[in-house]
Amino acid sequence: MDATGPPDLADRLRRIRDRVALAAQRAGRTADDVAILLAVKAQTAATARAVIDAGGHLLGHNRAQELLAMGPALAGHPHAMHFIGHLQSNKVNHVLPWVSCIQTVDSPRLAAKIDRAAARSGRVLDVFVQVNTSREPTKSGVAPAHALELTYAVGAAEHLRLRGLMTVGALSPDPDVVHDSYRRLADLRDAVVVSGVPGTADAAELSMGMSNDLELAIEAGSTMVRIGSAVFGPRPR
Ligand SMILES: *Cc1c(COP(=O)(O)O)cnc(C)c1O
Repeated sequence: MDATGPPDLADRLRRIRDRVALAAQRAGRTADDVAILLAVKAQTAATARAVIDAGGHLLGHNRAQELLAMGPALAGHPHAMHFIGHLQSNKVNHVLPWVSCIQTVDSPRLAAKIDRAAARSGRVLDVFVQVNTSREPTKSGVAPAHALELTYAVGAAEHLRLRGLMTVGALSPDPDVVHDSYRRLADLRDAVVVSGVPGTADAAELSMGMSNDLELAIEAGSTMVRIGSAVFGPRPR
């Protein structure tokens, strides 16, 4: 693979945009209502640059180490970078300079740590609260029963701007089960934005849906799908 990346990257990006537009239309919404974040896990910097140049301006990393390694190589290729993986408290300071948003706040302790780090660098950082809507024990995210409490704590944090909620949907062959997990996140978001709690008024985003289930997520109200394999090919791991 050369610096232009796989030749079909732009094609695959177009196909994802078409799928998103169609799903949005079916849900009575428009393509503009749903952002497409490209999960660049395990990709080379050349591929990430190529996808940015092909028009994919919103990227996500789920591993701090990969984010730090790739960050400098993306200079000059305008993009926004979100952190979408499980974040250990001791990695917050390393990750912060490279991201405009952390989607995976799942505990009051992590929220406080990010808030302090953002304060030190004079920033207000966009964050999502990650909810484990499927209650699968292997998944990160705050339990649905504690999600509101956590969003209110995040809303109150001076250097965090709560943008919405994020989830990794249920891993199930049953579309109803997957759809239910996404509906659960949408219901929580609805409860957050009508709560009137300070700092929660901007929290309308729903980051949910991946390559295999973006249609279900958009039907349930997704405002941001996170796409990896459908654009970059099968996951190397
Ligand atoms: C890899 C990843 C995705 C994309 O998954 P695909 O099934 O490859 O589209 C989405 N969200 C997170 C958190 C990821 O780590």
